[in-house]
Amino acid sequence: MEDKKMITVTSPLLPSLDEFVGYLKEIWKSKWITNNGQFHRQLESALAEYLGVEYVSLFTNGTLPLITALQALGIKGEVITTPYSFVATTHALWWNGIKPVFVDIDPATCNLNPDKIEAAITDKTTAIMPVHCYGMPCDTEKIQAIAAKHKLKVIYDAAHTFGVRVNGESILQAGDMSTLSFHATKVFNTVEGGALVCHDAETKKKIDFLKNFGFNGETEVVAPGINSKMDEIRSAYGLLNLKQVDQAIEARHKVADYYRQALRQVKGVKVFEDMPGVRHNYAYFPILINAEEYGMSRDELYFKMKDDNVLGRRYFYPLISTFDTYKGLESSNPANLPVATRIADQVICLPMYYGLTEADLERVLNCIVK
Ligand SMILES: *Cc1c(COP(=O)(O)O)cnc(C)c1O
Repeated sequence: MEDKKMITVTSPLLPSLDEFVGYLKEIWKSKWITNNGQFHRQLESALAEYLGVEYVSLFTNGTLPLITALQALGIKGEVITTPYSFVATTHALWWNGIKPVFVDIDPATCNLNPDKIEAAITDKTTAIMPVHCYGMPCDTEKIQAIAAKHKLKVIYDAAHTFGVRVNGESILQAGDMSTLSFHATKVFNTVEGGALVCHDAETKKKIDFLKNFGFNGETEVVAPGINSKMDEIRSAYGLLNLKQVDQAIEARHKVADYYRQALRQVKGVKVFEDMPGVRHNYAYFPILINAEEYGMSRDELYFKMKDDNVLGRRYFYPLISTFDTYKGLESSNPANLPVATRIADQVICLPMYYGLTEADLERVLNCIVK
């Protein structure tokens, strides 16, 4: 049998190599390769404009802005968060000596269920850290009302939410801060990279101190900062990718429509539809397999796809709450997290990126539609 081309679950958006080399020549000429150079400044302002927010601070990845947001807001004690995310969300709490308190998710969006938050609040709770999972917006109004009532901060892990808008407004406007990841696998990438979004100039200044060892000028150190500055090379790469990200999102939208058209009617397969008023970014294409109705388990389908050289990803499985570091926490008990536990056992993310052809999509669908 002829070996079929491997279809990966993702593929990075790459800028034009010629244009990138042009930028590299400028960087070589200036010999300014990091520490708030011209490309770094340009990318911060271009992103603020594109995303529809005022203050963006660039970082070397998407995990350090989570850690830094908690530092900047002085978060301590306990933080309410979701177990249904990439493990970095919870690790950021751990690195700050904060106890994560897991709350179950809403099956409609895979996001923290706002109706379950209040029962988890104690006198040690200082913040809520939700994730806009797969780029589907959280119920930010409900979360804000709970936060206001209990005087809690809200930090959104918005790693999946590049370019997402709700009724025309950036999703990044919600909460006290939001973090982004520009990792190679994300909708917009700078190879590795990330950003922290805040809403006032004072806070932006504080964040910029924190990402540069706490330095204010040459000799004064105002806070115990870390080093998480993005360099000029990746900033230049990011500027080029930003020019084509809308085109990439449009292509992802077409892929999502193609999948949904074919899968909507398949018994035992759940797809997620667009939400009213939301400009989605189609960062992922999760489907949920109900083994009984579908006649095959999620894992059986996952390995069947693999046999055909089609790589899905069981994302997010296993739940963060099941990992060694966290499984001993009271809130990690699966009885506390029935929806997250079920969805983690049912989910496969299908191949989703700019550049998938109709033939590729047909091969993916052939594995699933019987
Ligand atoms: C990718 C991701 C991160 C971490 O980003 P890195 O850039 O890889 O450090 C954090 N949270 C979520 C939900 C992610 O998907």
